[in-house]
Amino acid sequence: MFDLSGRVVLVTGSSRGIGRAIALELGRAGSDVVVHHRANAARAEEVRAELSRIGVQSLTVAGDVAHPEEVARFVRAAGEWKGRLDGVVTSAGIYRGDATPDVGPNDFQSVLRTDLEGTFRTVQAALPFLKKSVRPAIVTVSSVMGAHAGIGGVAYQAAKAGVEQATRALALELAPRIRVNSVAPGFIRTDINRGGHEDPRFHAAIVAATPLGRWGEPDDVAPAVRYLLSLEADWVTGLVLGVDGGIPLR
Ligand code: NAD
Repeated sequence: MFDLSGRVVLVTGSSRGIGRAIALELGRAGSDVVVHHRANAARAEEVRAELSRIGVQSLTVAGDVAHPEEVARFVRAAGEWKGRLDGVVTSAGIYRGDATPDVGPNDFQSVLRTDLEGTFRTVQAALPFLKKSVRPAIVTVSSVMGAHAGIGGVAYQAAKAGVEQATRALALELAPRIRVNSVAPGFIRTDINRGGHEDPRFHAAIVAATPLGRWGEPDDVAPAVRYLLSLEADWVTGLVLGVDGGIPLR
């Protein structure tokens, strides 16, 4: 089930956190993986070493997703490695939870450029290489906050809502050749929200708000991405798959 043997998948932001868990899960499914990072070559090399222990091939590429020319460069390097990409996962992203009065002149744009335009530019740059694949698929990474409002972080929530609609618009535009889906994680313990999950009161508030009664881990998200990239999902496109412990149910 959900075998990805012989596939080549680029995962942005995969030196740590959710992206790293996705890269390793895809490796365990048999896929060769392009590990992308912004500036942490040592962590990316650690992921590459783990992939090598799993027994798949990997390449590391670097670049800032907020700069389209850097995206074009690292995606080209990823695509030229094997001459094609069978999958792209856009996990690179930042979070800012500021209350509206505290959002500085460049803060809003910086979140949109990284989380929304970074996702779009990555997909755009990958298209020529995805078109060389027999069954290509893209998975974007949204958030439970893309469709369910929270207090603070308006730019982040707007960016993730944009990622979800971009996913649907791309799914329609690229059908029937390329499938495009999204995962929308709930609260996952990573560096992006370390201040939150290390704060006992915030930690408890999230547990209380989550019907399944705990914070998520990166490994809760990775299998959903594996499924969406697999041939078992061959007739699934434009889906935003919540992996969130049931938060939207409340
Ligand atoms: P993380 O901070 O551990 O990982 C984010 C990764 O993105 C890092 O490797 C970072 O270097 C990279 N990145 C950030 N800005 C970049 C840029 N401009 N260019 C290139 N790389 C950049 O956080 P995470 O929790 O693993 O987040 C991964 C994705 O999951 C993000 O898109 C985030 O919005 C989303 N998400 C996270 C949660 C959560 O609770 N952790 C919930 C919902 C969605």
